[in-house]
Amino acid sequence: MRHFAYQRAGDVAEATALHGSDRSADFIAGGTNLIDMVKLDIMRPERLVDVNRLPLTAIESLDDGRLRIGALVTNTDLAYDERIQADYPVLSEALLSGASTQLRNVATTAGNVMQRTRCPYFRNPSRPCNKREPGSGCGALDGINRNHAVLGVSDKCIAVHPSDMCVAMAALGATVTVEGPSGVREIPFEEYHLLPGDTPEREHALSDGELITHVTLDAPITGAKGHYLKLRDRASFEFALASCAAVVTMDGDTVREARIALGGVATKPWRSFEAEAALSGQPASEATFKQAAEAALAGAVAHRDTAFKIPLAKQAIVRALTTVTAQ
Ligand code: SF4
Repeated sequence: MRHFAYQRAGDVAEATALHGSDRSADFIAGGTNLIDMVKLDIMRPERLVDVNRLPLTAIESLDDGRLRIGALVTNTDLAYDERIQADYPVLSEALLSGASTQLRNVATTAGNVMQRTRCPYFRNPSRPCNKREPGSGCGALDGINRNHAVLGVSDKCIAVHPSDMCVAMAALGATVTVEGPSGVREIPFEEYHLLPGDTPEREHALSDGELITHVTLDAPITGAKGHYLKLRDRASFEFALASCAAVVTMDGDTVREARIALGGVATKPWRSFEAEAALSGQPASEATFKQAAEAALAGAVAHRDTAFKIPLAKQAIVRALTTVTAQ
């Protein structure tokens, strides 16, 4: 057991001041991911700044139609919020497909955005991992990699981003508000999570000491319907092998606009602009959906155990679109 200091903040200013730019400090809220990492000796914070008492638990409807979600809103409260269920059902479905009731009751919105990979080599300090220890190698590249990514991979890292919530947010469009030593800034959701490239240890666009305070969803698209399909080895308390968030508006039998994002197959929540282009203005038919699926996976790269994910992800897209356009 490694010792660490514990400090509790009462507001955002105090939290960011306590943390400063100290790389040995971490913020803690629900702790469902961070405490795992500490117990596994993968994260070794010398100080934890507890942000659970910060006034960031509200979901606010903004005048411009957007919905502003406080960083500390739990996954349960977000999933069952009436505005989420009415206007962003894909997000509610994604949240309720993740983890377990007990975990959703304490896991927070910001914590879900910050969630780290489940790659078993990353979670085992005795194995090489470029993400945990840059330059040490990647145990998964030539190892057991059935649960790894086929999109957004590099020759340094093929780890899957584990979140369901973030896949829905990628499809819906959102903005992450952060506050830190340099003040307040906003990061488009698409730019928040980083591809591994040559620096898999850099997972997000946060600067040292920045705290997520809100995630703001774009205004709902008029007439849009949404669906989140998650394919996994067992029906609950399991991460996705492949998932698809689909948000679609129709003109009669024609797709007017579609938003498609994938989970379980990519190194970050994966918005597929290629699939969206293949759907726009096309008849809502199985042939169109298959073309969109082909476009989405055109750049996929398989490793030893991941080839099955490519047809699985395509089928997830076809099924999700079939379901959402039949609503
Ligand atoms: Fe580490 Fe990424 Fe390789 Fe997993 S896939 S061992 S997280 S470098």
